[in-house]
Amino acid sequence: DIFPGRRNSQGWDWTDPRDMDEINTARNNFREGQSKAAPLIVSTKAGTDQRNIHAPAAPEDHVGTVHLASAEDAVAAVKAALPWSAPAPDRAAVLLKAADLYEANIGQIFALLAREAGKTMPDCIGEVREAVDFLRYYAGEAGKLTGEARGRFVCISPWNFPLAIFTGQIAAALAAGNAVLAKPAEQTPLIAHLATSLLHEAGVPQEVLQLLPGGGDVGAELTAQQLVDGVCFTGSTATAMRIHQSLAQHGNAAAPLVAETGGLNAMIVDSTALPEQVTRDIVASAFQSAGQRCSALRCVYVQEDVAEGLIEMVRGAMDALQVGDPWDVSTDVGPIIDAAAREKIAGYIEAARAEGRVLHEGQAPSNGTFIAPTMLRVDGIAQMKEEIFGPVLHVATFKAHQLDDVIDQINATGYGLTFGLHSRIDDRVQSVVDRVHAGNVYVNRNQIGAVVGSQPFGGEGLSGTGPKAGGPLYLTKFTRSNGAPALP
Ligand code: GLU
Repeated sequence: DIFPGRRNSQGWDWTDPRDMDEINTARNNFREGQSKAAPLIVSTKAGTDQRNIHAPAAPEDHVGTVHLASAEDAVAAVKAALPWSAPAPDRAAVLLKAADLYEANIGQIFALLAREAGKTMPDCIGEVREAVDFLRYYAGEAGKLTGEARGRFVCISPWNFPLAIFTGQIAAALAAGNAVLAKPAEQTPLIAHLATSLLHEAGVPQEVLQLLPGGGDVGAELTAQQLVDGVCFTGSTATAMRIHQSLAQHGNAAAPLVAETGGLNAMIVDSTALPEQVTRDIVASAFQSAGQRCSALRCVYVQEDVAEGLIEMVRGAMDALQVGDPWDVSTDVGPIIDAAAREKIAGYIEAARAEGRVLHEGQAPSNGTFIAPTMLRVDGIAQMKEEIFGPVLHVATFKAHQLDDVIDQINATGYGLTFGLHSRIDDRVQSVVDRVHAGNVYVNRNQIGAVVGSQPFGGEGLSGTGPKAGGPLYLTKFTRSNGAPALP
């Protein structure tokens, strides 16, 4: 083991004034001012198309500018990419150093996460913890690999975890010795640029890790290059399918696609569950991060006998949520990532309102891109045609004898990311868990926030390809066959 005794980051406690003083002092230096992002590629002729980045929570806050990569940049970067020739222990040492650098720069990181991505303080803390956990975990796993690096990996990451997932994908590909072409979400290039700079500073060579900020066109150009040996992607199921097609069309049918995609995540609450605990876990699962997690709870099935009382408790808890400026430490729910996403969610809620299905709506500021936490009634999960990526909880009820049917309905969505169950009957817990198709199943707790190293994260069916991120099998896909971890 290269890295015995690895521990997950302890993070910072936002309820502890000493921790918060430290964080606030550090991040206040970056409250104003603008950051810059540009392609970090080997070739010097980098794209010039420029865009401004504004804070989703406050459109007048100009967070920075980004120079977008061009199609030619993508092609040049792939050609110039070189796998990492350093031996596994040296690669691991660089990743460990990067983790330390992330922690040494939390002021700037926290400020950018809040301003560019609208992340609340608890989410910022979770995000940095997860990013450094990925770096240290995959560093440790690198030494167990028996396979060879595949070559060039394209890593396409989402805006909802602009540091953690961005870093996790790259760290995995690098730990296995691949060259990485990173294409961050177009909404969050500034945090990606900062993270890439820290990885370079830690010692990842320029030609091993290149950054190509841009939109879907840059991603499409990258995955169309025959020189590419694999793709790691987190985002929508539709995009994952397009990437698969593109790989096949460009003579790369055998290149692995490691994809983590959408979900229609359900929870079942039976009449034996503890109402206070269920209320807390529903609210966290559905509304934390403004519901902008693929793991978020979308549809809770509540046993009819207890439904009315529980809905009333959830209403009360929704009213207690503070929605607003993510910089404010007491904010529970921040903004939606951008105006287009906000419009889509708002339109969906309007349609439900017209059908008389709104059970409750919380409060939200009218400026910025906020959506008030909302609870809607549905007959069942089949009524939800698609994943609504925001703070919208759907509630259905069931009678005791319908439990099997409810599980069938949940499985019939074809997705299978997270699932939650609240029950105090052990036999029932076991039989439900055995029957539900979901990658991450949580019992008598919330269903978000999988922890690196102890809760490998990833879905089944339309929700992803596996292997699970933050688990012992993940790196095997980033190596050529034989890449199974050595037995302990
Ligand atoms: N890993 C995150 C969680 O467990 C979700 C990742 C995502 O939204 O893509 O909440």
